[in-house]
Amino acid sequence: KNMIIAIDGYSSCGKSTVAKALAKHLNYVYIDSGAMYRAVTLYFIQNDIDHQQPDQVAKALTEIHIEIHTERGANKYFLNGTVVNDDIREMRVSELVSEVSAIKAVRTAMVAQQKRMGANKNIVMDGRDIGTAVFPNAQIKIFMTADPQIRAERRYKELQNAGKMITIEEVIANLAYRDHQDTTRKESPLTKADDAVVLDTSSMNQQEQLEFVLNEVKN
Ligand code: C5P
Repeated sequence: KNMIIAIDGYSSCGKSTVAKALAKHLNYVYIDSGAMYRAVTLYFIQNDIDHQQPDQVAKALTEIHIEIHTERGANKYFLNGTVVNDDIREMRVSELVSEVSAIKAVRTAMVAQQKRMGANKNIVMDGRDIGTAVFPNAQIKIFMTADPQIRAERRYKELQNAGKMITIEEVIANLAYRDHQDTTRKESPLTKADDAVVLDTSSMNQQEQLEFVLNEVKN
């Protein structure tokens, strides 16, 4: 049977970094489910879709095709044939994605695609509802958290290194906003699966985080 490793948690706890390293180490496929919600959000922005209009959302979902290809070890996320890795990290996407991902029709479409992606492959998938809704039978479930101030500082450095013009206050506000939206929405809110192991990364470096998760996989 194929192996599924589900990594969930709050925004900017280091989920994708540890998930990527883990997938590389185990030679599994890595899938960033957040990138998929970001791609949908980008499409809505680019095409002036009003996410509060169910008809517009339904029509848009028939037009959105997301693909993930791994090239030389790195994932490329395609939205209707165009690589959107950079565009989906823009602040305008981060500011809207939690509202878009709270829409039932959006989640239904993304979860169905995510389930297909893990149907017969060994995968590491990170997100908010992977261990609870997408793969409730995942063999390994990790729930990541970290001190909000530390998360904001890490994210701020990352965005600065990427050349983004942003203040730490904006980062703190966006993380707090997304955590609130993600934990209080009606559809699959962010919550720890009963059988998930908690990983608090506040005082752990990336290597320590990887070792923690590898240890769970071995046991
Ligand atoms: O993982 P990332 O922070 O890029 O995800 C962006 C947003 O997408 C989250 O804040 C959340 O609103 C949404 N998301 C989700 N379910 C997932 C992954 C992400 O609702 N499985």
